[in-house]
Amino acid sequence: ELTTNDMKQWLLTAGEKMQDNKEYLSELDQAIGDGDHGHNMARGFQEAADGVKGSGEEDIGSIVKSAAMTLISKIGGASGPLYGTAFLKASNEWKDKTSLTQNELAQGLEAAVEGVKTRGKAESGGKTMLDVWVPVVEYVQQRDLVPSELAAKAKESMEQTEGMKANKGRASYYGEESKTHIDPGAYSSYLLFEALAEALD
Ligand code: ADP
Ligand code: MG
Ligand code: MG
Repeated sequence: ELTTNDMKQWLLTAGEKMQDNKEYLSELDQAIGDGDHGHNMARGFQEAADGVKGSGEEDIGSIVKSAAMTLISKIGGASGPLYGTAFLKASNEWKDKTSLTQNELAQGLEAAVEGVKTRGKAESGGKTMLDVWVPVVEYVQQRDLVPSELAAKAKESMEQTEGMKANKGRASYYGEESKTHIDPGAYSSYLLFEALAEALD
């Protein structure tokens, strides 16, 4: 079960992790992009975390929805609208709820993935954040959630993007050269799900 407080904790921890890994995320994006991913994530998730801190006794749907609006409006680049869409779609599923069963958590995350796919016109295997989201969401749908296993699934999926060739976003301009680099958005998604695992632990 995930409570309103767990949800707040997820977003707060995500904000800290994006901040702590800001330089590394930008380094990854320097190799196969324009080097701003750390800046984008740290700024967006910090603002979203600030919103959470200022929130009152709201339900999970409203908390996640305002985080989504912040991500969409505050992050430039491809990743802001994509993460924002993910949280916005999830928030629709979590409307008026003050706690989520694993099944309800999975439903929201599933809607998030569908939103990212539609918005980014992408599928898994293209070396993007989806290569972490898709396997993690499958795990939450299919297994009895164990936080450490969730984090391990996210980590292993992030690491696998290193061998993939990018076909979406800026990284696709690098072609074969995009191989041998971890995708920056996959790494930030790994941090996001590691934060979820910690909030659930
Ligand atoms: P920008 O590329 O505009 O500078 P960021 O650097 O913040 O934006 O984000 C780049 C990340 O966004 C990539 O590493 C990738 O994971 C993700 N991304 C880019 N395009 C897409 C897409 N069409 N679908 C899914 N994810 C994408
Ligand atoms: Mg970038
Ligand atoms: Mg950019």
